[in-house]
Amino acid sequence: MTPEPTSSKPKAADRASAAKAVDWSNFRDHISTADQQGRRKWVYPRKVGGDFYRWRTRFSWLLLSLMLAGPFITINGNPLLLMNVVERKFVVLGQIFWPQDMIIFAIALLLCAVSIVVFTTAFGRLWCGWACPQTVMMEMVFRKIEYAIEGDAPNQRQLDRAPWNAQKISKKMLKHGMFFALSFLVGNVLLSYLIGWRNLYQIVTDPPAAHLAGLGFMVGFSLLFYGIFARFREQACTFVCPYGRLQSLLLDENSIVVAYDRKRGEKRGPLRRAQKFTARRYAGLGDCVACNQCVAVCPTGIDIRNGTQMECVHCTACMDACDAVMEKTGNERGLIRYASLNGIEYGKPLRFTPRLAGYAVVLVALATVLGLMLFLRSDVEATVLRAPGSLFQQMPDGRFSNLYTVRLVNKTSREMPVELRLESPAGSLSVMGQGPIVVAPQKSSGNSMLIELDPAVMKPGTTPLVVGVYSNGRKLETLKTAFIGPRN
Ligand code: SF4
Ligand code: SF4
Repeated sequence: MTPEPTSSKPKAADRASAAKAVDWSNFRDHISTADQQGRRKWVYPRKVGGDFYRWRTRFSWLLLSLMLAGPFITINGNPLLLMNVVERKFVVLGQIFWPQDMIIFAIALLLCAVSIVVFTTAFGRLWCGWACPQTVMMEMVFRKIEYAIEGDAPNQRQLDRAPWNAQKISKKMLKHGMFFALSFLVGNVLLSYLIGWRNLYQIVTDPPAAHLAGLGFMVGFSLLFYGIFARFREQACTFVCPYGRLQSLLLDENSIVVAYDRKRGEKRGPLRRAQKFTARRYAGLGDCVACNQCVAVCPTGIDIRNGTQMECVHCTACMDACDAVMEKTGNERGLIRYASLNGIEYGKPLRFTPRLAGYAVVLVALATVLGLMLFLRSDVEATVLRAPGSLFQQMPDGRFSNLYTVRLVNKTSREMPVELRLESPAGSLSVMGQGPIVVAPQKSSGNSMLIELDPAVMKPGTTPLVVGVYSNGRKLETLKTAFIGPRN
């Protein structure tokens, strides 16, 4: 019997029964930006103002200036940050890292990961709200342009529902034109961190056929960022960013998060005209006046009064909105504030928990290892090998010679004169076929080196050799190799 062909696409009936299985009254059972048919609910967050928003705006200008200026800032002639994967060249804070430094790079990445863990355990998603490029660009650049062109949330909703007319077309064209121009800028900034601004300039100024791959990346990044900021938005934080998912593992009841003070706020209820808060409390009501302003400003569409949620990017908008309501109603600010669960429930301050202490020990150990490795890292990477296929030779004066190949990598951005000295045992060392070795900046060179030893200092068979690598009289590295001679 031939089996019935099956479709991998879920049927509408299956989707409906899956939707029925969801407990829509439980906010933890579904995401706030999808309706019961699984369609996306577009979030129209209201404009927000307040102390936190002002500080975030200032901080975002600082970060955006750094991001835009970064590719042009140099330290010792090297860029501030360069991640050229194609040419395997990495520069961090002006320090060049070569493929040979990968262990340092790996430890630095590990240190970053542990720092994130420690930081998140103590302070929640402070990074997401204040410094994450996605939030900064979305809330401080793209959202502001949207408000300027389409107005606040109610106007945007109205515009989206309105039929297409000249006004709507012109507003949408202006908005999306500006979004694409900005996405092109962001894409190019990212590209300049990957290949350096000089290479980017060449791609822009040379004929297009000369840099098809570069142009492809330029267009690809622009479209990607346009897609993220124009359409994908908060979904990037909810579905794509692994950090958001990690928070459920990292946060505990002592972590500082954006939190609603349930004890103070509940039981919520509207504030009647001229009603005093003391009277409300007497009537069993809390400080939350159920105005929903905290929900209206949330860019991820959640209600923070339900508790800490994966979608919350700690943008502080609900804190500002609620503080404004509290001020207007003559109540104390901070109904929604930075606090830990233990802080809210039991009034406990931030504690250095054993878990945090454990993370901190790992962090300090990694930082120490990294610091030592950076401190001991040489400006020159040198390797020595016996020249392939060569045997020892006896000179007319009775001494023996071995031929070696020395590879030198200059990790600095300046020319480096290098001198090789035989340190043990006594003998002579000469670099073949050229004058003093000079390695060009950020380049490597291969050199042939001849070592001659007197039989009196040689051991039968193999004699250990120590060669010092010097530059301008300063020892940079010690090389160890073997000198081959007769067995007796
Ligand atoms: S803004 Fe404050 S008072 Fe208004 S609903 Fe939210 S928590 Fe309650
Ligand atoms: S709940 Fe508050 S802090 Fe979290 S994303 Fe929404 S507005 Fe921002």
